[in-house]
Amino acid sequence: MRAAVLYEPHTPMSIEDVSLDGPRDDEVLVQVQATGACHSDYHVIDGSWNGPGFPMPMILGHEAAGVVEKVGADVRGLEPGDPVVLSFSPNCGRCRMCVIGQPQLCSGMRSRAGTFPDGTRRHRKGDMEINAFGKGMSSFAEYSVVHQSAAIKITPDMPMQGAALIGCAVMTGVGAVLNTARVEPGATVAVFATGGVGLSVVQGAVLANASKIIAIDLLDNKLDYASTVGATHTINSSKQDALKMIREITDGEGVDYAFDAIGDPRVSRMCYDAVRRGGTAVIVGMAATGSEISIPSTIAGEEKIVKGCFYGSSRPAVDVPRLVDFYLRGMLQLDRMITQTYTLDRINDAFDALGRGENARGIIMPTR
Ligand SMILES: [Zn+2]
Ligand SMILES: [Zn+2]
Repeated sequence: MRAAVLYEPHTPMSIEDVSLDGPRDDEVLVQVQATGACHSDYHVIDGSWNGPGFPMPMILGHEAAGVVEKVGADVRGLEPGDPVVLSFSPNCGRCRMCVIGQPQLCSGMRSRAGTFPDGTRRHRKGDMEINAFGKGMSSFAEYSVVHQSAAIKITPDMPMQGAALIGCAVMTGVGAVLNTARVEPGATVAVFATGGVGLSVVQGAVLANASKIIAIDLLDNKLDYASTVGATHTINSSKQDALKMIREITDGEGVDYAFDAIGDPRVSRMCYDAVRRGGTAVIVGMAATGSEISIPSTIAGEEKIVKGCFYGSSRPAVDVPRLVDFYLRGMLQLDRMITQTYTLDRINDAFDALGRGENARGIIMPTR
């Protein structure tokens, strides 16, 4: 199959023919029809995620949808031809975290860097092994092999491009609001950074009936996207004092909930400062390897809450169909998030555009 291989950070991915083994008994082979260019892939490309956790060469890609091509002997509930959203967080269904309802924290599917959950590498070019991303998902390719828990069947009515977005940005952003923070009707919300995840946080806040949804970014075009999907206020923090404005909009109190949708320690701290006493700062974006967030010791007196959020605290088998239903009922503006599509050959253009902050989301169609 053809795949985009990253040999070194700061270099373009190379489109090459590679082989892919599988599926094994509990896995499925999926033809990738749409896959998003996400900031997490970009973190590897630009070297901010680095070290032993990100061995090269690697095939990136972790936000995708496609059609099941082949199923392993032990797979239940999936057949060739089924449209699926791929999850980058497979779960075992048996460990304590899975059983108590937090499969996003599954301890039975940990994998060493660059490998599938069973510890193997499956991508090869000649004698050279290629590392996987997202526990094997590696969707910047014509095909992907994933554990059966990571392929969630959806209705054929769902368009593939929107379905791909559900695989990462939308699950993460909407999940951060509905699952992690459990924002209640009437609450006030601030969203820092309005890329794919931030735009999804805005839409989650709309679904939760938040009263004020304040979007903060450095780029006016991104703030325009945020307004289109439901932000009630926008702040360009390169020109305006975001914290001061957030207080003005909320009668001097600060917001009930603030979301860091980029993953930068300074932005995480701004979220902390933006929430009212007793408010909740949710850290959704994943920051550079080794970074730390500083929190003032007044946290005790102010009863502020800081929460991490991985993959929207989602249970993919429940949340994927729920998000598909929201879209089909016109309650999620996924089409407005897709501002450009690319063939696999032009994948580097998608990431150049992401680096320049141009797209709401760029989608790659590897089999076009
Ligand atoms: Zn992502
Ligand atoms: Zn588990």
